[in-house]
Amino acid sequence: MDQRQKKELVEILQKGVEFECPMSRYTTFRVGGPVEALCIISDLEGLQRMVPYLGREKIPYLVVGRGSNLLVRDDGFRGVAIILREKLAHVEPNGKSNQIVLAGGGLALFELLDYCKGKGLGGLEFLAGIPGTTGGAVAMNAGAWGCDVGSRVQQIQIVTSKGELETLEQSRLKFKYRALSIPKGSVITSVKFELNRESPEAVIGKLSEYLKKRHEKQPSQYPSGGSVFKNPPQDYAGRLIEKTGLKGKRVGGAMISPKHANFIVNTGGARAADILALMDLARKKVKEQMGVELEPEIRVIG
Ligand SMILES: Cc1cc2nc3c(=O)[nH]c(=O)nc-3n(C[C@H](O)[C@H](O)[C@H](O)COP(=O)(O)OP(=O)(O)OC[C@H]3O[C@@H](n4cnc5c(N)ncnc54)[C@H](O)[C@@H]3O)c2cc1C
Repeated sequence: MDQRQKKELVEILQKGVEFECPMSRYTTFRVGGPVEALCIISDLEGLQRMVPYLGREKIPYLVVGRGSNLLVRDDGFRGVAIILREKLAHVEPNGKSNQIVLAGGGLALFELLDYCKGKGLGGLEFLAGIPGTTGGAVAMNAGAWGCDVGSRVQQIQIVTSKGELETLEQSRLKFKYRALSIPKGSVITSVKFELNRESPEAVIGKLSEYLKKRHEKQPSQYPSGGSVFKNPPQDYAGRLIEKTGLKGKRVGGAMISPKHANFIVNTGGARAADILALMDLARKKVKEQMGVELEPEIRVIG
């Protein structure tokens, strides 16, 4: 980006633009070099002005939720990171229905679950402990314990790369394992979920059960990006990596978790390169020893 573009970006958004911002602050791995500009967008109009501008100027951009599935390389990302907040991170009932919830794309999942808990709305409890946003969870079709978020989505609203607001009904949404295909460059601004009426106590009970299971199985002591690889069909990436004997293997500040082999943790001062080196090693060993090609679940940026 040149000086003119930087000035215009500030003019478009008025506030919330930070230049050369380290992504280690915005990812759960706590690693990653700078983005040229980080833009915190608080309303639809700002987003609809900015996205087509970036397209016209050929400036690459990336939507960042909580950065809980992102590994940004140490050199950073030459482009703009977009973060949705305020009016784009709200939650409210939808119309008169008491089972449909409208959540902003930037809303943190724990806030969505808190809302559901308070209203006695069940169906999303399996998301407990996933540190993402609503938009990120839908973009990734996040899931756990045999459930995934796509099965609860009735409709999403997106802003396309041209800045147009579009509504996509469930029948047009193609959810796959840890993926949803939406038009390239679009941003999920809100999601309608269809939920079940339950007592708040029942919802609270399920949330604590899922959180307990998660704490038993996954490392929570150190920063991480969750599961590094997708599970291959009929198997578990963690089981395969564990069989290669790599649990506890370290490169720099990164380590393959001794608790769960599909997690790489930042034990302090890790660089993205350390994490990538461990990913390479795990992939190679699993391929050599078991003949299985592991596919990354985390998205590598830069
Ligand atoms: C400790 C831990 C545990 C985890 N456990 C699980 C788990 O059990 N199951 C699971 O599925 N995942 C898990 N994850 C991974 C991660 O939390 C999920 O994938 C989550 O849904 C990502 O949300 P996010 O908002 O952080 O997205 P980000 O990581 O910021 O982004 C992920 C992708 O979504 C895109 N994106 C984000 N927001 C939007 C938007 N509004 N519009 C369009 N695209 C968008 C980004 O551009 C990027 O491509 C875990 C991660 C951690 C750190």
